[in-house]
Amino acid sequence: MAGILADKDRIFLNLYGQHDWTLEGAKSRGAWNGTKDIVAQTPEWICDQIKASGLRGRGGAGFATGLKWTFMPKQESERPHYLLVNADESEPGACKDREILRNDPHLLIEGCLIACRAMRSHQAYIYIRGEYVHERERLTAAIKQAYDAKLIGKGNIHGWDCDVGIQHGGGAYVCGDETALMESFEGKKGQPRLKPPFPAGAGIYGCPTTVNNVETISVVGTILRRGAEWFAGFGTEKSTGTKLFAGSGHLNKPCVVEDAVGISVKQLIEDHFGGVRGGWSNLKAVIPGGISVRMIPADQCDEAIMTYEDLAARGSGLGTGTMIVFDKDADLVKAIARASYFYKHESCGQCTPCREGTGWMWRVMERMATGEAEMSEIDMLLDVASQVEGHTICGLGDAAAWPIQGLFRHFRHEVEERITNYRARRGSYAGASIAAE
Ligand code: SF4
Repeated sequence: MAGILADKDRIFLNLYGQHDWTLEGAKSRGAWNGTKDIVAQTPEWICDQIKASGLRGRGGAGFATGLKWTFMPKQESERPHYLLVNADESEPGACKDREILRNDPHLLIEGCLIACRAMRSHQAYIYIRGEYVHERERLTAAIKQAYDAKLIGKGNIHGWDCDVGIQHGGGAYVCGDETALMESFEGKKGQPRLKPPFPAGAGIYGCPTTVNNVETISVVGTILRRGAEWFAGFGTEKSTGTKLFAGSGHLNKPCVVEDAVGISVKQLIEDHFGGVRGGWSNLKAVIPGGISVRMIPADQCDEAIMTYEDLAARGSGLGTGTMIVFDKDADLVKAIARASYFYKHESCGQCTPCREGTGWMWRVMERMATGEAEMSEIDMLLDVASQVEGHTICGLGDAAAWPIQGLFRHFRHEVEERITNYRARRGSYAGASIAAE
């Protein structure tokens, strides 16, 4: 396997499920090794190490993990502290966390114990996507193995009491938002909460809570075993470490792979995903971070690298690092219209710009896709998208606006051409009808 990461530096050694996923297999790959020494350290030391590693949340937002942990109260009180792991992976294009849940669940369970120690918590819950039934069963079995071996639970061999539980979600995309996830966890409708209060102050059951992504928590054990400098040695100053990347769409070999952050878009596609269908010259555009970021056109993909800063400078984002690739046969307008339907369908309806805006944008995008829209509606659509962006309770509004903005930033001419051609066809049809009369 090419790429830029050497095999000796991979964290996920059973990504493809070729080896034993159970406790025995996980231990043979290094999990649960030296965990007691790590847990014996102070919470401050663990947080400092994670800060030094530069680890940023792998769920899309990219917030500094060590810093996030320090927002939790520094003293234990009668209000318990909670770690809530976000396994509600539901974004179109995102399919990386499920490989951890299926094939290396002990890395996640070990990470829960360490993260709980860092945040003075004795209870972690993993909120897993409703459709991930097989993954939930695998995770449940792995948690039982960890309890049976006294690796977690009360009076465990690591000296820090920590229970790990699972909550199975109902299958709503919006529950990937941390506050909606907390509402759903509590058995209410999965609707995002206004912030403040932030979860570290008042999360589930009104108690201090930190929500972290599956991959984020799963890499913690290896980082602390191998050292923060080792992890920080990959990538750039602001985008460090190794990461799971996924490729879907018009690729010869769509898959999930671990490589160093900072790998170029081209190398990722060519080395790991088997190249673009029809060759590199047949590439049209890439959405690099799951459907909710803006696309970048092919002419930027030669230079683009998978870091937070490079993709942000291109008006896009690293997001979850799960790219969707379009070749020249792709109908981008139709694809984004489909994405707009997804956001309209998943809006919880709580705030007006999102509830009304996502439906409106979807309907206009459908007419853009057929060419029936008016030319003047393009600017109107972009205006509405900018009114939705940044004016909603949760990020779903932004996520609905960005794919549309990306399309028009780079491929406005295609939509205009489609509208013009539709009018020309209509005109010639009308002319032919009159002549026939
Ligand atoms: Fe609900 Fe949309 Fe508002 Fe988020 S942005 S709270 S999904 S209505």
